[in-house]
Amino acid sequence: KQSPMAELVQPELAQRWLAKRKPSSHKGDHGHLVLIAGGPGMSGAAILAGRAALRSGAGKVTLVTHPHTLAIIAQAQPELMVHGTDEKGLIPWLEQADAIVIGPGLGRDAWAQQQLQQLLDWLTELSGPLPPVVADADALNLLAQLPQGEPSPNLRQWVLTPHPAEAGRLLRSVMSTRFADENMTAVVEADRYEALTQLVTNFNAQVLLKGAGTLIAGPAHQIERILVCDRGSSALATAGSGDVLSGLLGALLAQHRQPSAAALHELVATAVWVHAVAGENAAQAGERGTIASDIVNELRALVNP
Ligand code: AMP
Ligand code: MG
Repeated sequence: KQSPMAELVQPELAQRWLAKRKPSSHKGDHGHLVLIAGGPGMSGAAILAGRAALRSGAGKVTLVTHPHTLAIIAQAQPELMVHGTDEKGLIPWLEQADAIVIGPGLGRDAWAQQQLQQLLDWLTELSGPLPPVVADADALNLLAQLPQGEPSPNLRQWVLTPHPAEAGRLLRSVMSTRFADENMTAVVEADRYEALTQLVTNFNAQVLLKGAGTLIAGPAHQIERILVCDRGSSALATAGSGDVLSGLLGALLAQHRQPSAAALHELVATAVWVHAVAGENAAQAGERGTIASDIVNELRALVNP
């Protein structure tokens, strides 16, 4: 369903956020992304997100992960800094972050819940500018499970990146009475614009609703400017594809310190566009059988337009 308000994400919009680097720049100029990802058995999601972030130009990427997956992630990608969580908690890493991503392969166990809670607590106490935070995958599922009755957290500088099933869980968590017996994925797909608007207003966050024709909106003025991306390919419908998008988005946010709400909105659209075109390019070798690593391999060419 096409809404009259939707604005197509054009290549020019993306290219504005992918300006050439200064020849004299150093890695500190390109931002430090902290990625909280990779619970037991799910190291692959963390590796894909980490690689995507490196290939999208983050100056440094720190992956904070479960102690059980530390070794395998560190071996997979030498350019990543990898740390297992310990009793010191997340704060030493969060304090260094220009942008934060939480969720790829996080799982929903007590460890995963602890990481999300620490991040929420740290942000609540923080005075001064908030770094942008991308919540994806199980971080969204955990947000949807936060105890009923508590006010839903104010996620002003957050980007939520649900696919329709995750969007459905988030919506049910804030509107359980309205949707008591519904199949929430079907509710989302029946009116993606309505689902997007409800998510933005209830969570007060930027929201990227995945799927062919990805929609992007944010609180305040960005609710009036819904962006839609008509690019992409069914090659993107493969395991790990979303993890690539989270890493890419985190890297773009880290490279644009403290973006305004309007900038955040356009950076999200830029990441969606790059991911979609990367999928199209990867699909040239054959749509069926494209894997998430192929999408990662297309990123470098696209972030240097
Ligand atoms: P996830 O479900 O988290 O792995 O994310 C899949 C990603 O691929 C999302 O960004 C989707 O929007 C994208 N995607 C999946 N299928 C398609 C499709 N048929 N056309 C365009 N994009 C797609
Ligand atoms: Mg996903």
